[in-house]
Amino acid sequence: MDATIALAGNPNAGKTTLFNALTGARQHVGNYPGVTVEKKQGIYIHNNTEIQIVDLPGTYSLTAYSPEELVARDFLVNEKPRAIINIVDASNLERNLYLTVQFKEMGAPLCIALNMMDVAEKRGVEINIRQLSKLMETPVIPTVARTGRGKNELISQVIEMIQKPPDAPPLEISYGKDIDGALIEMEREIKRNHFLIETYPARWIALKYMEDDEQIKSLGEDADANFSALLEAIVKRIADHTMATLDCYPEALIADHRYGYIRSVIQQGIVKYNHDRNRLEISDKIDKVVTNRFAGPLIMVAIIFSLYHFTFTYSAIPGGWVEGVFGWLSGLVQANLADGLLKSMIISGVIDGVGGVMGFVPLIMFMFFGIALLEDSGYFARVAFMLDRIFRIFGLHGSSVMAYILSGGIAGGCAVPGVMATRTLKSPRERLATLLTAPFMSCGAKLPVFALLVAAFFADNEAAIMLLITLISWAGALLVAKFLRMTVIKGEATPFVMELPPYRLPTFKGLAIHTWERTWQYIKKAGTIILGISIILWAMMTFPGLPDAESQKYAKMRNELKAATLPAAIHEIDSIRDNSKRSAPALALQKQLNTVASREAEAALRHSLAGRIGTAMEPISRLAGFDWRTDIALLGGFAAKEVVVSTLGTAYSLGQVDPDQAGSLSEILAGSPGWSPLTALSLMIFTIFYAPCSVTVVIIIRESGSWKWGAFSMLFNTLLAFVLATAVYQVGTALGLMSG
Ligand code: GDP
Ligand code: MG
Repeated sequence: MDATIALAGNPNAGKTTLFNALTGARQHVGNYPGVTVEKKQGIYIHNNTEIQIVDLPGTYSLTAYSPEELVARDFLVNEKPRAIINIVDASNLERNLYLTVQFKEMGAPLCIALNMMDVAEKRGVEINIRQLSKLMETPVIPTVARTGRGKNELISQVIEMIQKPPDAPPLEISYGKDIDGALIEMEREIKRNHFLIETYPARWIALKYMEDDEQIKSLGEDADANFSALLEAIVKRIADHTMATLDCYPEALIADHRYGYIRSVIQQGIVKYNHDRNRLEISDKIDKVVTNRFAGPLIMVAIIFSLYHFTFTYSAIPGGWVEGVFGWLSGLVQANLADGLLKSMIISGVIDGVGGVMGFVPLIMFMFFGIALLEDSGYFARVAFMLDRIFRIFGLHGSSVMAYILSGGIAGGCAVPGVMATRTLKSPRERLATLLTAPFMSCGAKLPVFALLVAAFFADNEAAIMLLITLISWAGALLVAKFLRMTVIKGEATPFVMELPPYRLPTFKGLAIHTWERTWQYIKKAGTIILGISIILWAMMTFPGLPDAESQKYAKMRNELKAATLPAAIHEIDSIRDNSKRSAPALALQKQLNTVASREAEAALRHSLAGRIGTAMEPISRLAGFDWRTDIALLGGFAAKEVVVSTLGTAYSLGQVDPDQAGSLSEILAGSPGWSPLTALSLMIFTIFYAPCSVTVVIIIRESGSWKWGAFSMLFNTLLAFVLATAVYQVGTALGLMSG
């Protein structure tokens, strides 16, 4: 009696948890052929028979708008599972039953696992299981996947279904006079042409035509173009009619009627509230203010500003400690290691490179803590809700907000999960526009770049400048999205339902875990990838060294200086390290020697591989205010954005020879000629917009299904960044703004 069964349900209904509870260790994960949607399979053994269980991707619908939906539907049709366990979140019944209704319309052999019963109970929601089962004509088993409650009943029910397949006819919902009439007409044609009726009910196929389902339509065209055109003509007639009379596409009417059907089921005594609806009411009251059309955005900006203020103010102290530790390490190596390549690599490559990145750990940690607080309390959901209206204007979708926020919309995310989160977007065009623009957000790796520049040049207005950067990145992302949706990815928008979960008081433990997870990821990256790249860039900045003739020139200059000084002063330089104990002639000599050494270091850096690349780029990058050292750092940033900071650290430390003058990188930058607040602003703008880091590009290619979009985002973004940075720098220079 070996059989395959499928688990299906909305995202977050508890599928994976139930799947793990049922299959234990007997499972494996792969991808569905041809798409990147994850496929989990496992075995449940019952009385020596194997039941193969497949965890289908989470979907809200079975119309082939997204890859997940397509996969779920194809699996149901092609593999013909003997039973489908539809996991329904009991605490969110109405929304979840939308998918259930579609299974019933397909005539699939269904069994409902009514999951999250504990949550429903805690909220005081009581569900009449027998009544629900009767009205939906489907077995319903209450479960709590997390504890395994109801698991055995569910399996017995499934086995019963496998042994005795249910033969209930597909559900037929009325979609109103116009659509119903057309469906009957189309059904007749479909049956006459024997189109797919072996696999799907004829009415369901008609319904898919009405819902504009690309996949079914193209199957129809392949089967018989005339026949398909006939069906499309009927759909067109109805669509014109509903647009004229109701100002609504048939798709939307169909969704309305499905929800209407579900509501009518639920209202027949299925749900009873016997609790304090208090929490919900308080939530509603807060929402009236927080998502108010006028007050909402102001509150949002105020909250984000406070987040930045909190972060910058309180992270400064532990940030100083970390810098202190790396400074001490650097001094230790300086004093105990013989001069040479190893010393240079450890100080300039490892300590200054990685130290520059690690110095921001406290800041990142504080920022992540604030973000976790906003996320866990439920406030982020409000932000998404509020911004939905605005996003539509720019050809995006309410769900795009989540992708932006994950990518660092409120600073400190990462574009990789952000781009992957676009999977929840149904329309491929909105999805593409979102995943191409999400990398403009201020991810955790760009944060140190901004923090460095802000500390060096805008120390009095740190929070305000961070807010400005956030606004620029959002405005830029939205405008680029609009531009893309008007040019390369034109097309209709999809309708969207968004809900607001009740506010929760976050637990300290939860916040601490979230903060630590993200911080640890950052530290790990600094210790591995960034360390590697930092050493490679150090090598590129060190080799090839100056040609012998050049070095000798500097050696000669040094010798000449020494020859012109008293032997006692030379002796002091070698024997006394403390400046305050040196005599005046010794100090003067030291100063001159330092000048020679830093000229030599600069000549060597320019002569190096990276220096040559940077110097070659300088004539162009000068337009945006960047010198050749910055060019090197920005090139390094293609690999990972933290590298911008570590490379600036290395580049400026290689040219830095007097250990007594060594300050933090931001002090060095602030004191360097050629740097001004305007340069910093231009560099920040460039950093916001230029090519995503290499990992993100790989993910963009994977998620968009084409390397072309990866190439596009690298070229387009860099060009855009350069144009914007140049504009800011040139206009600023012309007006004499922020010139230092
Ligand atoms: P999926 O997206 O459908 O695969 O959902 P998951 O299995 O990943 O579950 C989403 C979240 O809900 C996880 O944090 C689970 O631990 C939690 N969860 C799953 N089932 C239950 C349940 O019955 N009760 C409660 N309280 N939480 C659950
Ligand atoms: Mg899952």
